[in-house]
Amino acid sequence: MSMGESPKKPVDERPAILMDAQTRKLMASSKIMMVDDEPINMRVLQLHLTAQGYGRFVSVTDSRLAMSTIRSERPSVLLLDLNMPDVSGLEILSEVRSDEELKQLPVIVLTSSNDPETKVEALQLGATDFLPKPVDANELALRMKNTIVARAYEQRLMHFDSLTNLPNRLYFSRLVHKLMKSPALTNGRVALLLFNINRFKSINDTFGSEQGDDVLWAFSQRMQLVFDHAQGISPLQKETLKPHCIARLGGARFGVLVQFGVGQCEAPVIQEWLPLLIGELEKPFFVEQQDVYVSTSVGVSALGENAHTVENLINNAETAMRYAKEQQSPGYALYSSDMMSRARRALRMENAMRTALVNDEMTLVYQPKVDVRTGMINGAEALLRWNNPDLGLVSPVDFIPVAESTGMIVAIGHWVLEAACRQAVIFRKECNPAFKMAVNVSIRQLYEASFHQSVDEILKRSALPSEALIIELTENMIMDDVEANIGKLSLLRELGVGISVDDFGTGYSSLSYLQRFPIDQLKIDRSFIMEIESADEKAPIVKAIVSLAHDLELSVVAEGIEEQVQLDHIRKLGCEEYQGYLKSRPVSASDFMQLMLDELRKCA
Ligand code: C2E
Ligand code: MG
Ligand code: MG
Repeated sequence: MSMGESPKKPVDERPAILMDAQTRKLMASSKIMMVDDEPINMRVLQLHLTAQGYGRFVSVTDSRLAMSTIRSERPSVLLLDLNMPDVSGLEILSEVRSDEELKQLPVIVLTSSNDPETKVEALQLGATDFLPKPVDANELALRMKNTIVARAYEQRLMHFDSLTNLPNRLYFSRLVHKLMKSPALTNGRVALLLFNINRFKSINDTFGSEQGDDVLWAFSQRMQLVFDHAQGISPLQKETLKPHCIARLGGARFGVLVQFGVGQCEAPVIQEWLPLLIGELEKPFFVEQQDVYVSTSVGVSALGENAHTVENLINNAETAMRYAKEQQSPGYALYSSDMMSRARRALRMENAMRTALVNDEMTLVYQPKVDVRTGMINGAEALLRWNNPDLGLVSPVDFIPVAESTGMIVAIGHWVLEAACRQAVIFRKECNPAFKMAVNVSIRQLYEASFHQSVDEILKRSALPSEALIIELTENMIMDDVEANIGKLSLLRELGVGISVDDFGTGYSSLSYLQRFPIDQLKIDRSFIMEIESADEKAPIVKAIVSLAHDLELSVVAEGIEEQVQLDHIRKLGCEEYQGYLKSRPVSASDFMQLMLDELRKCA
């Protein structure tokens, strides 16, 4: 199949599992072990079996040595005489069946005993087959062939994925295990590249599971093709990179074992080579007359300091893969141990967050928003704080992304809105009737179908006039799906709520989009304010944002004002409001109240 070509129906395309030639090969390569106290019997049988195409034999006459020889030789089939001095065949059979590693070994029992009870006992003990002596060599050869073929089929089912025909996770784990013990490993390094097809479930949902299977099959074919040609893709690893095994590790996950040459460091090789491979893999697949686009995330881990077992190796690659998925670009990540501790902390955070609200661990602090001309507080931004007994004080920069990815932000955000609105009513009553409260809202909340209704209900319940509430959304969030967000924001605007674009300047807003958004305010990101070091500073970006905002009839808030010179500068540029440590850090509601009352007292 060439790249991008339609995958044929997997069922028709897969090779028959065992062809005749394959059976012959199987017979020739199978190791047959015979245990019989009469060497002549074994010699005769061996002659017959050799004529039938069997090629490897091990004979044991002393039954006391049978078990140790089985363990060291690992035969494919055991032909076992029952009547032997010292250790009987039945004893050997029972020991084989109770040994974890040997219990699957096919055992054909050969005996001159006509006693039906012995036969039943042998079968009860787990004999695979039973043949009376004198043995008909032709019959034995056929019975053995059937046993070997059935066993090979079982093995195949056990070790190969039936959809893609690739080795499965079990086979892969055993291979890595073997590789870890091999001396070849001391001459190089082994890395696992774990490929995941992102959002594969939505491919299944959109096209149906049969087409989903076609995509998986086509992807597996492409992987093999790409790795066959991997050496040609980059000049860096002409002889050094040998893909060892490509396996389907489950679902839409594929693993590739790669061996690196002596003294070769995998990081630079992978960084040069992997983006090219990913590029090839992500070319569209043509399935059922249409192009299907896939995106992949790749995690890379190496056997070594951080991974001593197969499980370590796969888990590390999964951790790196999930990390790559979160980062979106460049689509792959090399495992590092701090990724693991970060993932563990995120998991602990996720668990602790479930009970954070009921346990009263979340609070709001308020940072003044100040009128640049008068220097008076005219509002606040509500900022969330989480204090957990185990995790300590967690920064919103760390926990908001976890809350967003788990969906918990919806409940948390609802609580924030409600608490902030109630507090705003108090501030307006006690200090400043024109006070406005700004609340950060995550895009996950905005996407809730009933979000504007919740806001409306909260306003009514708290009796806060809608114009006293400002909703902050970051620039990156709203630019993600412009049309949908314009609709959502319009609904909020209709309630009378103000909309402010947070962290402005860090995204890629185009002017034409910005014009269409129903917004009231831009908040210049702190990173631009930090560049202002003197009142005469040019700070071209701040200047450009202020003039752009004013052209669009939006007000401007400067975030992160820490120095007087920064305030002087933004005043000169005509910014309406500011926030920052110069006025106050975010403080508790009671401290905030005190700040406002002090101000009023000074003015009086
Ligand atoms: P943001 O909305 O841009 O909030 C401003 C951040 O800058 C706050 O950090 C604030 O403490 C900090 N800041 C204010 N003035 C200064 C200054 O002069 N210097 C410096 N260095 N920093 C200043 P915080 O409270 O850690 O919040 C970080 C971010 O977490 C917020 O950025 C916001 O995106 C998010 N966040 C906070 N609370 C909530 C919430 O209730 N809901 C949602 N969805 N996000 C929230
Ligand atoms: Mg904000
Ligand atoms: Mg901000």
